[in-house]
Amino acid sequence: MSSENNSNTVTEEPLHCPGPESEDAGTGDACNSCNYQQTCSSNNNLPKVEDPDIQLIKDNLSNIKNKILVLSGKGGVGKSTFSTLLAFLLSSDPDLNIGLLDLDITGPSIPKMIGTMSDTSNAQLHMTSNGLIPNYVQDNLATISIQYLLPNIDDAIIWKSAKKETMIKKFLKDTLWSDLDFLIIDTPPGTSDEHILINKLLNKTQSVTGAILITTPQEVSLNDVRKEINFCQKVGIKIMGLVENMAGFVCKNCNRKTDIFKATTGGGESLCKEFNIPYWGKVPLDPRLGVCCDQGESFVDLYPESEATLCLVDIVENLMDQCEL
Ligand code: ADP
Repeated sequence: MSSENNSNTVTEEPLHCPGPESEDAGTGDACNSCNYQQTCSSNNNLPKVEDPDIQLIKDNLSNIKNKILVLSGKGGVGKSTFSTLLAFLLSSDPDLNIGLLDLDITGPSIPKMIGTMSDTSNAQLHMTSNGLIPNYVQDNLATISIQYLLPNIDDAIIWKSAKKETMIKKFLKDTLWSDLDFLIIDTPPGTSDEHILINKLLNKTQSVTGAILITTPQEVSLNDVRKEINFCQKVGIKIMGLVENMAGFVCKNCNRKTDIFKATTGGGESLCKEFNIPYWGKVPLDPRLGVCCDQGESFVDLYPESEATLCLVDIVENLMDQCEL
């Protein structure tokens, strides 16, 4: 249902509109005050035609054991960094096969962080008659990102929803992922088209294993995470755990710990208690981590004894407990 502000005969769609294709179209709480309620309700009675891509996605993802969404309400809290660290750490076990899907269509940063992009050039993907070959960082770690499909590394991606949907479907149905133990899906911030779409597609095919929420200890970030929790509850995504990133910084010179992003309202731990979500711990601010992201190097391999790596090892244990292997 589109909203066109220039027409006085068309009202804006209500907040929390379930969407005309949803099973709740015309019956959601928000529908009561909407001019299109009747249209949506009558559409809902029509026989539903299954999207033919659903079966293709289902077939293509049938050999992936665990599909993990990495979510945050806010940008800049370390979601892509965490997805990259998780991919590196999981793939340090040669018996595991890992895929990393960069769903941030407009601001992809995985290729840089995972080391498949220099200042001037991108890794390129190869299209074969059987599908798209992902980029292999190492034998057991494959990545896909819109960045690999751009002719120039600095090209801006300004796309409407339909085009984003085509691209996300392509990543899911045309990528030759092979047998994976984990597909880590790095999402853009918020609860936008990409989240709704990936959840719809994965739920109709084989459900998402669950989501990991990333936040900083600050209330401005926690506030957005509450919306993310609400989103997960509404669409039925299991929240596996919450990770507090950028939690504390220890000065190398004086050894004093400073909470740069102060937990003024109790931080991630109290949020987890409030919503009964597993709390998976704190990853501290570590300037070496930022450098590794810029240089596309594996922080967990370079600094295995760092507090951040030790915290990540615990997180992986928590994750494994909830996954099929
Ligand atoms: P998001 O994906 O949530 O937008 P990013 O992963 O791009 O956030 O992280 C934002 C910036 O913060 C990056 O420059 C990254 O290197 C840096 N960063 C993230 N986590 C840490 C950390 N724990 N310590 C130091 N720098 C970090």
